[in-house]
Amino acid sequence: MVQICALASGSNGNAYYIGNENTAVLIDAGISRRQLHKRMVEVGLKIDKIKAVFITHEHTDHIRGFRSICERQQISGYMSSRTYEDSRPIYLPSKINLFEPGDSMNVADIIVHSFAKDHDAADPCSFRIEIDGLSIGVFTDIGVANDKLKLHFSLCHAAFLEANYDEAMLWAGPYPTYIKNRVASDKGHLSNDQTVELIQSSAGEHLSTLFLSHISADNNKIDFALKAVESLNKPFKVLPTSRHKPSEVVEIK
Ligand SMILES: [Zn+2]
Ligand SMILES: [Zn+2]
Repeated sequence: MVQICALASGSNGNAYYIGNENTAVLIDAGISRRQLHKRMVEVGLKIDKIKAVFITHEHTDHIRGFRSICERQQISGYMSSRTYEDSRPIYLPSKINLFEPGDSMNVADIIVHSFAKDHDAADPCSFRIEIDGLSIGVFTDIGVANDKLKLHFSLCHAAFLEANYDEAMLWAGPYPTYIKNRVASDKGHLSNDQTVELIQSSAGEHLSTLFLSHISADNNKIDFALKAVESLNKPFKVLPTSRHKPSEVVEIK
């Protein structure tokens, strides 16, 4: 039994849970240990099952809780060496396992595959988690879908996939022009349209569940993102995530 849940998703904090009966991993730690625990209790997940935390990049919404979660839970934290060098020391646990994007790591019977992605960070990477014969992807903070992302996504049974902004809302929205340009650039985020394109080009036949993730509060609406992807009429479930509360816990088969 594999369970997945977005405990937080968006620019206020990111934390994605992937686990089986015995072990779980957390991808990103953008909320405090206290908040993580509270949200896990809310949806009936056990924090003690998490045995490792993997960090995608050093932006605060992905590492704010890294130290507190690893140290309080006494579990291993993983990040790439260049991400480590560019992270604010206050967020870093005393012991960290360093890796290079492209490495695969074992946590009990779970395998975590890392690969480089395009985003305005020191050494951004994404992860595909192999667990009980299933593949779960965590793909957020992506400027442009590169070939590695397309390949890993095509293998997924479920994924947390970014649908960050609606093109029209971004350009008409409140951000200064240089930030709008940054969001829309190849080092920024995926728009709803880019997410739809990625699904059309690369979703595999095993895909059963897609969590739309890292949805912007200012430049998107959950309904816009859901409608854009649902209009594809694909045979998988499309679910929202939230910055304020945990998503549904979904069992992947
Ligand atoms: Zn982010
Ligand atoms: Zn980021």
